[in-house]
Amino acid sequence: MKTLGYYNGKIAELEEMTVPMLDRACYFGDGVYDVAVCRNHRTFALEEHLDRFMNSCKLLHITPDHTKEELAELVAGLLAKMDSGDQLVYLQYSRGSALRNHTFAADMKPNLWIMIKPLTLQKEPKPLRCMTMEDTRFFHCNIKTINLIPNVLAAQAAEDRGLDECIFHRGNEITECAHSNVSILKGGVLLTHPTDNLILPGIARAHLIRACRALGIAVKERPFTLEELFDADEILVTSTTKLLCPVVELDGKAVGGKDQKNLAALRSYVWEEYERETN
Ligand code: PLP
Repeated sequence: MKTLGYYNGKIAELEEMTVPMLDRACYFGDGVYDVAVCRNHRTFALEEHLDRFMNSCKLLHITPDHTKEELAELVAGLLAKMDSGDQLVYLQYSRGSALRNHTFAADMKPNLWIMIKPLTLQKEPKPLRCMTMEDTRFFHCNIKTINLIPNVLAAQAAEDRGLDECIFHRGNEITECAHSNVSILKGGVLLTHPTDNLILPGIARAHLIRACRALGIAVKERPFTLEELFDADEILVTSTTKLLCPVVELDGKAVGGKDQKNLAALRSYVWEEYERETN
């Protein structure tokens, strides 16, 4: 074979391979991978790659259904099918397949992907021309990317504790939640994180702001702190699937419940808007 794709036992040339839409890798990036190179049909440093692969699985709570020895044997068998002995070997475990939901079953069966394509390493690769750039990885929360592993882990951590949502803070500053935005009411004013790169610009959040303006509730788009969150008159979580929902418990403590009038007015406003536009 010139290239090879493997998916849970199915094998074909890479361009003939397809994966199911319900594989969580497709919509959450929920998986781990490793890459090794092979020369003369022998994979270089395979043991180290498999150790790292297994460790990545462990860190993401993915339970492999192959041992390292089984994987090494599988890879050797696949490489034996290749026309050339010089190949790149890509291994991926995704958490498994299920209807889209951030949280996952503990006993989910993982999906094993392997891709093999020709590669010959150069003894003296061409020297590189580079640029510098600030490391902004994990600072792109304003992009509705499918790479949601931190959100998936946070949602699962909340569910494991019998809770509904996880509210994120960076240092002392509240940003948003695992799959929703969070705002607070304090002294009749709505405080909500500005739409910079640290939060997703939620559609339901925008509707909440418009509802506040229509009802004469002042809005301040500025970050608020953990202390302000605990001390809020109401904590409001917004998302497309929940619209607007108050928080009553946070880290085991009772919170909110001190501005029921504005809360009720806002909930009616966003619900009526939803009903009006969907009638
Ligand atoms: N923040 C995150 C991380 C989300 O995943 C979501 C919804 O999926 C939201 C906020 C809320 O956005 P929206 O109101 O558009 O549903």
